[in-house]
Amino acid sequence: MKHLTRPAALVLSLALTLSLAACAPRESGGEEAQTTPVPSAEAVPSPSPTPAADPYDAVRAYWSEDQLTQEWGPEQPVEHLFFHPVIAYPDYAFSDAVPADRQKGLDDWMVTVDEYKKILQSLYDKGYILVAMEDVWSEVSDGGEARMVRNTLMLPQGKKPLILSFDDVNYYDYMLAEGFTSKLVLGADGQIWAQCTDPHTKETFLTQDLDATPILDNFVLEHPDFSLNGAKAIYSLTGYQGILGYRTQNDRDIPTDDPRRPEFEAFRQGEIDAVKPVIERLKETGWTFGSHTWGHINLGSETRSLASVQTDTERWLEEVGSLVGPTNILFYPHGARPDGDDWHKTGPMFQYLQSMGFRVFASVGVNDFSYIKTDISAVICDRLHPDGTTLRWSRDRYLQFYDAKDIIDLAVRPDLGVGW
Ligand SMILES: [Zn+2]
Repeated sequence: MKHLTRPAALVLSLALTLSLAACAPRESGGEEAQTTPVPSAEAVPSPSPTPAADPYDAVRAYWSEDQLTQEWGPEQPVEHLFFHPVIAYPDYAFSDAVPADRQKGLDDWMVTVDEYKKILQSLYDKGYILVAMEDVWSEVSDGGEARMVRNTLMLPQGKKPLILSFDDVNYYDYMLAEGFTSKLVLGADGQIWAQCTDPHTKETFLTQDLDATPILDNFVLEHPDFSLNGAKAIYSLTGYQGILGYRTQNDRDIPTDDPRRPEFEAFRQGEIDAVKPVIERLKETGWTFGSHTWGHINLGSETRSLASVQTDTERWLEEVGSLVGPTNILFYPHGARPDGDDWHKTGPMFQYLQSMGFRVFASVGVNDFSYIKTDISAVICDRLHPDGTTLRWSRDRYLQFYDAKDIIDLAVRPDLGVGW
């Protein structure tokens, strides 16, 4: 594979020290009703206000078509990295406030905010460019039989394509207790912010500096050449505690005669109304959505029944798909493949999921593996996972992206050793 490097860009890291007052979420606007002034004869009509330019326009328009002269063919790898929510307060997450077994889980599967920022910088310095997962594979049907194909991407010279995905961006209750951000909100400035409660002071505020989404948003605004046609990343969402920090899950588990039902339904409707503009803005700025199953179910479990997969899938489509729109991408929870193996065989669970519209089935692995299935229109692929396990024990495998030695924050993480 061609390995081109580009000169490292000098980047000013902007300290985002914005106060809550400057960025109150839209729903807390509460503007007072204004009385219409009676125009006097001399009144000069004021020009109609020009809508503020969307700063993201510069990202979408950064690369012109005549600059996209590098063909990246189906035989060339498209790397794919995924993250879990990033640890906003590592000094809290890795303290006695969090049980030891949970600390181990956080260390294993997550990176801290600072590590995440350093990883983004390194990916950029090494010449990666974000591409939309939806642009990498397509379904074609020649002669009636549909099948998946890897597309040839047109890239700027010197760039290498990279897909990013973010799993479990649901802001689960258990994470909120561990010092993570708590939801994505649309700020009065039209940009995405994260709501956060400082676990030490219990103060709640909005930030763009402690959550993976606005951090990437701002990184791409500062480095528009990091994105192809405005692409950012894809969310892998469950549904059992709603999405993006909004408890939009339905009430089918509440008995019909439960007196709290009306209250619950009103609350849920409020959450749905509140998340819609967030989804809209995310879509406008290069984010897309895939399924991580409704219940984060283990599709590889020996006790997993097809009926339970059907119920789960219907529920995801009803409660999540209805909000984020159609997707053909499924991210296996735990990386667990259905029917024991989705590569050498196509079992009933895989067939069912494909029949429900999924075409790209993403697991977790050790390289850029992808395989277009020949007996059914589907592609299976693996993703690499920047996190504590690989920072500690798989430095070599990730050197094309970053050097774990430069990334891992051993001062804040538990003392669990490294393999380098
Ligand atoms: Zn997950």
